[in-house]
Amino acid sequence: MYNSKAYSAAGATAPLAHTQIKRRDPTEHDVQIEILFCGICHSDLHSVRNEWNSVMPTVYPIVPGHEIVGRVTKVGLAVKKFKAGDLAGVGCLVDSDRTCPNCREGLEQFCPSMTMTYNSPDKHLGGATYGGYSDSVVVDEHFVLRVPANLSLAGVAPLLCAGITTYSPLRHWGITNGKKVGVVGLGGLGHMAVKIAHALDAHVVVFTTSPSKKADARRLGADEVVISRNADEMQKHAGSFDFILDAVAAEHDINAYINLLRRDGNLTLVGAPAQPFAVAGFGLIFGRRSLSGSLIGGITETQEMLDFCSAHNITSDVEVIPIQKVNEAYARLLKSDVKYRFSIDMASLKSE
Ligand SMILES: [Zn+2]
Ligand SMILES: [Zn+2]
Repeated sequence: MYNSKAYSAAGATAPLAHTQIKRRDPTEHDVQIEILFCGICHSDLHSVRNEWNSVMPTVYPIVPGHEIVGRVTKVGLAVKKFKAGDLAGVGCLVDSDRTCPNCREGLEQFCPSMTMTYNSPDKHLGGATYGGYSDSVVVDEHFVLRVPANLSLAGVAPLLCAGITTYSPLRHWGITNGKKVGVVGLGGLGHMAVKIAHALDAHVVVFTTSPSKKADARRLGADEVVISRNADEMQKHAGSFDFILDAVAAEHDINAYINLLRRDGNLTLVGAPAQPFAVAGFGLIFGRRSLSGSLIGGITETQEMLDFCSAHNITSDVEVIPIQKVNEAYARLLKSDVKYRFSIDMASLKSE
């Protein structure tokens, strides 16, 4: 074991603060990574504040962070994919059983015994896994991604969660050239969905409540922007969408969007409001429309997403911050006051 610098929270109301944690020495299949950037995902904030207590209670102290980009410093004897000096990425998963039907199909994110990057039981050291708000991490090579050298690393970090969360459903639902795609909510997830759907040559329509976001949506790649409060504007698109990605975590009327789907169209949720939706059955029945959800993506698909982003020069729009500003960043995240993701420059941790 060795010591690693990190930022952790001691309880649901405690701020994140500097600490030292233990990391395992790399075993034969492990890759040790010096973390250069880590994105701030809304899940980090939910977990730190124990807001998902009923589904996955937080174990304290927690070190969040699952949008990790860094450089390999050491590899185990059996590691084939990486060598010291390579760029590397780690997303939401660091292990799974590798034997269940989901793992066999490369869908590790649905493995009943997956190990998440933070706040999961740590099979090696006991206690909980610690995430990327740290200067170093050790991960089995199967769960480490190759990071393309042509992209800005600060902007690559959020691809490991926000990128794959939007890429996976777009691919699953067959979005290609000429399909009409709606994106509801222009935040960390939504802005990635717009960039990726645009790069897939879809006709992209952004739904937003704020007219002030129109210009930015177009800059990101939207072909049209609809103000969702305007019923006439919404009605013009009735029955026309192949696919709508709903990235809004606040309560909203989902039926208004289901009615915009064409026959066999699908609406996929990647944002999860706390209260259950009231879904009108007729909206689904007329038109054989479907409503579904999606969770990040498997390791193979995450690599495919990174390679796709490399080929299309796609990164997340980030505001880079030193780790000392992380509590301030959380407060701003609650007000959606960021375009569109915070990325922590982990060099700032060296001075602690
Ligand atoms: Zn995330
Ligand atoms: Zn499995």
